[in-house]
Amino acid sequence: MSAVIIDGREMSRKIRISIRRRVDLIRKQTGKTIGLAVVLVGDDPASAIYVRGKQRDCEKVGIASSVIRMPAASGTRDVEAAVRELNADASIHGILVQFPLPAGLDSNAIIQTIDPTKDVDGFHVVNCGMLLSGVGNPMIPCTPLGIVEMIRSTDRDMTGSHAVVVGRSNLVGKPVSLLLQRENATVTMCHSRTVDLAEHTRRADILVVAAGRRGLVTGDMVKHGAVVIDVGMNRDGDRVVGDVDFDSAAKRAGWITPVPGGVGPMTRAILLQNTLQAFKRNG
Ligand code: NAD
Repeated sequence: MSAVIIDGREMSRKIRISIRRRVDLIRKQTGKTIGLAVVLVGDDPASAIYVRGKQRDCEKVGIASSVIRMPAASGTRDVEAAVRELNADASIHGILVQFPLPAGLDSNAIIQTIDPTKDVDGFHVVNCGMLLSGVGNPMIPCTPLGIVEMIRSTDRDMTGSHAVVVGRSNLVGKPVSLLLQRENATVTMCHSRTVDLAEHTRRADILVVAAGRRGLVTGDMVKHGAVVIDVGMNRDGDRVVGDVDFDSAAKRAGWITPVPGGVGPMTRAILLQNTLQAFKRNG
């Protein structure tokens, strides 16, 4: 293996330490506690685990977290009403709705109910629009922001580089492409209908793979010295594996993120960072 591993656990630990310091300072100077509310609808076990993880992360940095649990049979209007209450609650600075929501709920309508300044996931159209247009100061989705931080931690200059993003979702692919353009990379977006994926990935100085397809990218598809960011999280029994075949890709890449221990922990740390940013707007 020749690639340097981009250690998401270590990077996120440093971010948490810095957030803890700032949260303590805010409490000392203003007497205020930063609050994050998570709306959890239904009883999906994976969602419950994610939410518990988010609560633990908040605890570690001194952010007060609360979970609004709603039954699976809740209607869209019920969830919207719960979100509106949180919008009006001055002790809550960040709001997120845990996805996936139970079938039948209108996820999009629910997201649009969140006050954009409290939208720590950055999914509200106001935040998406600001990111697209470059106007204002949007809340940026956690995973894409974490990815750019990870690329920045390498000595690869994004300016003028060729970045290839595999996946075009609203959650990862689209926002990460916009962020990479903002960093002056030339960006190619690939997706499920792309013809000859390897022809594109082999030309990537920076390769971000967010397809949710185990082993989609193998070493022969990676340019020598590239930065490879594996966003994929695919279940393999009780293990989680990425979209990139780590062993073969690490032989060619200059830098690579592992799964687990790469993008996942960074996403969680950036959620705390976004909550702090939301406090600065609403506190
Ligand atoms: P999604 O299903 O919404 O989008 C997948 C995208 O991949 C689509 O745009 C599709 O066109 C593209 N795609 C699918 N098959 C392809 C193929 N064979 N070739 C090229 N493109 C293909 O998924 P998502 O929400 O963007 O998530 C992608 C992956 O990242 C999933 O595994 C998800 O679990 C993971 N993820 C991880 C984190 C994290 O914090 N680590 C956060 C978000 C998503």
